[in-house]
Amino acid sequence: MTLGPIPVTRTTSPRPRTPESELGFGKVFTDHMLTVEWTAKTGWHDAKVVPYGPLAMDPAASVLHYGQAMFEGMKAFRGADGKIRLFRLMRHCQRMAAGAPRLCLPALPPEDMAAAIQAIVRTDADWVPGAPESSLYIRPTLIATEAFLGVRPAERVLFYVILSPVGAYYGGGALTPVKIFIERQLTRAAPGGLGAVKAAANYAASLQAAVRAKQDGYAQVLWLDGVKHETIEEVGTMNLFVVIGDELVTPPLSDSILSGVTRDCVLTLGREWGLKVSERPIAVAEVVAAHKAGTLKEVFGSGTAAVISPVGELATEADRMVINDGKVGALSLRLYEEITAIQRGTRPDTHGWLTVVD
Ligand SMILES: *Cc1c(COP(=O)(O)O)cnc(C)c1O
Repeated sequence: MTLGPIPVTRTTSPRPRTPESELGFGKVFTDHMLTVEWTAKTGWHDAKVVPYGPLAMDPAASVLHYGQAMFEGMKAFRGADGKIRLFRLMRHCQRMAAGAPRLCLPALPPEDMAAAIQAIVRTDADWVPGAPESSLYIRPTLIATEAFLGVRPAERVLFYVILSPVGAYYGGGALTPVKIFIERQLTRAAPGGLGAVKAAANYAASLQAAVRAKQDGYAQVLWLDGVKHETIEEVGTMNLFVVIGDELVTPPLSDSILSGVTRDCVLTLGREWGLKVSERPIAVAEVVAAHKAGTLKEVFGSGTAAVISPVGELATEADRMVINDGKVGALSLRLYEEITAIQRGTRPDTHGWLTVVD
């Protein structure tokens, strides 16, 4: 541990509380935030919890010009027993540390990042919602703040964590299948690029395709490989799974696929349940052929926000494939129920995925 004890300055003007039924996603923020400074000279220092508020930054800060930025996304849950549990804390901290070098950003040691997250969640513990399906979304962020327009890695960096209480992803309570457009033109991530890192730039690169898809009545796009646009990579900002016959398949990790924590949960549970689970390339042509043959059983995305997002239809300009009659598949539902029950502490945490905040 390099950070030491983290001082807390409490707000003198608590923010208004939004009713849990009106939270939505990422609109409401808690009373405090955590910041840690890094300079090339001193390393990480000055970790503190302070009242939530604007960051003062020089307009020349490199993040604003060259996008040297990355983030994480994880959740804390209030269980039926009132306890607050962080889901897969260390795995998220390790992922950020593993990704930072690709952006020439310094990584906070995972143990320090974990301690920092616990400190801020403990401070704003009474903001963790208790309504079923609601949670506290945690957004650790790493940005280059040095005021310098030359192009090289910044020598001043800020790590900060903000918290956002979020409501049920599926408003009506039940999983809702979405329509997805197969994107054959635009690319999210290319070989050798930033796709395996939770880089802010990947999200900037994804927006236009998402906007176009929405205009045409789709929820998101299916991203294909950046070279030939033939194999499936991800769906929107989620990892992708297909069930063909009795095989659960997801593309293997590569430098253009993000190593999702939820993806790992799905693979772990699938293998435990005795399913035939494969990490192998999936061509669009294979999915089309399986659909024709009637063996394409389910398609779903996996990610922290939705947990499991069933796909009811995949479409190109020319073709539509309706999957499982547009209904939620049995495996999608089983995975969703198991993972959310573990998160809430109503089913045993046999994998050590939870950290209780006390
Ligand atoms: C964050 C993210 C995911 C999902 O990762 P989880 O750890 O499961 O939330 C998948 N794909 C991309 C591109 C992402 O940024």
